[in-house]
Amino acid sequence: MKYCDVLIEESFLNNQALTYATFDDAISFGKRVKVKVRGRDMIGFVTKVYEPIEMKFKVAMIESIIDEEAVINSELYDIAKWMSMNTFTPLIRCLQTILPNKLVPRSTSQSIKMIKYIKKIKGEFDLTTTQTKFINSFDDMITYTEARKRYSGVKKLIEKNAVEMIELESQYAVQSIKQSSFDLELTKDQEKALNAIESNKTNTYLLHGVTGSGKTEVYLQKAKEVLNSGRQVLIMVPEIALTPQMIERVSSRFAQDIAIFHSRLNEQEKYEQYKRLKNKEISVVVGTRSSVFMPFDNLGLIVIDEEHDHSYKQSVSPYYHALDIALQRSMTHNCPLVLGSASPSLESYARAVKGNYQLLELNDRINHSFPKVTLIDTREALMSGESQYLTPQLIEAISLRLEAKQQIILLLNRRGYHTLLKNAKTDEILMCPHCDVSLTYHKRVQEVRCHICGYGTKQLPKIDGEYPKIVGMGVGTQRLCEILESKFPEAKISRMDADTTQKKGSHQKILESFINHESDILVGTQMIAKGLDIENVTLVGVINADASLSHMDYRAVETTFSLLLQAAGRSGRGAQLGEVMIQTENPNHYAITYASKHEYRPFFMQEMNYRKTASYPPYSYLISLIFRDLDESKAFSAADSFLEILDSNGFQVIGPTMLRKMNRMHHVRIIFKGKDLECMKQRLRDTLVLYQNISRIGVVVDVNPLTLE
Ligand code: ADP
Ligand code: ZN
Repeated sequence: MKYCDVLIEESFLNNQALTYATFDDAISFGKRVKVKVRGRDMIGFVTKVYEPIEMKFKVAMIESIIDEEAVINSELYDIAKWMSMNTFTPLIRCLQTILPNKLVPRSTSQSIKMIKYIKKIKGEFDLTTTQTKFINSFDDMITYTEARKRYSGVKKLIEKNAVEMIELESQYAVQSIKQSSFDLELTKDQEKALNAIESNKTNTYLLHGVTGSGKTEVYLQKAKEVLNSGRQVLIMVPEIALTPQMIERVSSRFAQDIAIFHSRLNEQEKYEQYKRLKNKEISVVVGTRSSVFMPFDNLGLIVIDEEHDHSYKQSVSPYYHALDIALQRSMTHNCPLVLGSASPSLESYARAVKGNYQLLELNDRINHSFPKVTLIDTREALMSGESQYLTPQLIEAISLRLEAKQQIILLLNRRGYHTLLKNAKTDEILMCPHCDVSLTYHKRVQEVRCHICGYGTKQLPKIDGEYPKIVGMGVGTQRLCEILESKFPEAKISRMDADTTQKKGSHQKILESFINHESDILVGTQMIAKGLDIENVTLVGVINADASLSHMDYRAVETTFSLLLQAAGRSGRGAQLGEVMIQTENPNHYAITYASKHEYRPFFMQEMNYRKTASYPPYSYLISLIFRDLDESKAFSAADSFLEILDSNGFQVIGPTMLRKMNRMHHVRIIFKGKDLECMKQRLRDTLVLYQNISRIGVVVDVNPLTLE
């Protein structure tokens, strides 16, 4: 008999494993097992197997072992433990994050899709002509569905023992991609960067290259070298749907050898990609945040493209950052980690300046030409009674480009039609009943909506017995398109935002049609600022550059700078000179002036000064704690009682502060700010243990939060 420790998803267990016994020799670390907990059937995860020892209680037997092979290896298990410790999340939740849903030790876990096949049995049989013809129509086996199409009496053949029915796990329909792109001849700068990246050594590189400087080519050639030496490659991108060209470039270079892994795959597809890597059918993975947990066993290179992108941090618990996980994996696998960006996060660039990361630079565009950037002061437009959304200068520039049959991208970071609604009688702004945010009008569906909780209604409630008369204000992407249509009736206009991209595959459709010049103007939210590389785009307009500057967040300026730099980078990537127009009320703000000059370093210096003065990251570390409750005062008193038992020696505590209400819940926040992150974490750990005994209100912990909105 063996004993084993089993982790189960049950909050009362509080990360504690339960001990079970079994006579089955197949028991081992990393397998899932069925067990009974308080009379209920549960699925658990074996963390340890050992010889029976004396116990104070009777040890129950496990019901059965689910897996033939362990679902996790020791490297990923260590990562789960690290995540649990450092994101303050139960280990079982971390395992659930790491594993594809199909393999997750969850009591409601879904089954793996099986496919029925008809397989030939060797031997001589007494068959009819039709049966013989059917048997000869395939080699060894075919799917049951296909067999039925060819011959309806398959069951009779099974009875005759001429064929058998077997079930196999469904296999990813491998697309046959042909290798169609080949290495380009590198520029001197690219070559220098490529040669600087040492294989077989743990080291982190920051490849800082302006937009269009050819960073991708450096990744691809390094990847090829690594593959040739028999090792695996992970290339991470912010969002697959937004970077179709990047995917296309990697796929066409590595053809069959690649798996694409992202959140829009369904569970079965994710599982199949996972298996293909595990079975060594492929060696390159291109994927979003969660691909950092893929079961590599011989990684030779990790690339994080657009490393500044916020999507690399998970925005629900566990709040992990893919970069932290990638760093650990590069250490375990003894391989380089390459971070690439035109606007690195302040943290990464500061590390590069200090020498913790090795800085590699590509300072010129491949076509040697930077777009001309014009700042348009929207206050002038307002004073002369013009629209601040489409200023006369921007309209003029759009007409010129349309005449020249060139394409235009317009960035407006607000979706919907009217972004603000006002009660005409009282001048009050209409707010969501569940959140402290204003409602937005969506014209096509004739609905007002909340962008936080999804609340939507076609009929606003009566006020004082009558329906309020509403005045719409503000311009969202939907209304901008309408204005453009009236100004440029001949132009084809398409829109890309969260409303037009709900369906699977809709991103690609919109982008592909724009790439094929089926539309002239692409209007969109920040999602269009990412990786587009379209030669015919010669004008990029940023409609309201101040929108993100006005956020009350310490990172708002950095985010704005990066968005502008990325957006500007979409223009003039081909032979024609590109132009960028930024409409703003703050033409003298340093984020805007430096972005307009494509200058990263001076921006970095100035922003670092501000962070230093205010003692914000990278000059300090932050931990955010949120207490949530339907009742405002309960949320507050939970935070207060937490503070009473906290020993905050060695760091600063900010709060408790009320955040805006979201989804009916009141949020109260406490922030830890200090230079010694380990000390802050340890104090937090100690306090949480005590806190759980005195309050039933949970705490949401986010270490190194990306925003404090
Ligand atoms: P980045 O990722 O830095 O924005 P890309 O890798 O997308 O830049 O490169 C910009 C463009 O230049 C792409 O169209 C790419 O095919 C092309 N390119 C990159 N490197 C070279 C090279 N060495 N020779 C010719 N064209 C190149
Ligand atoms: Zn709401």
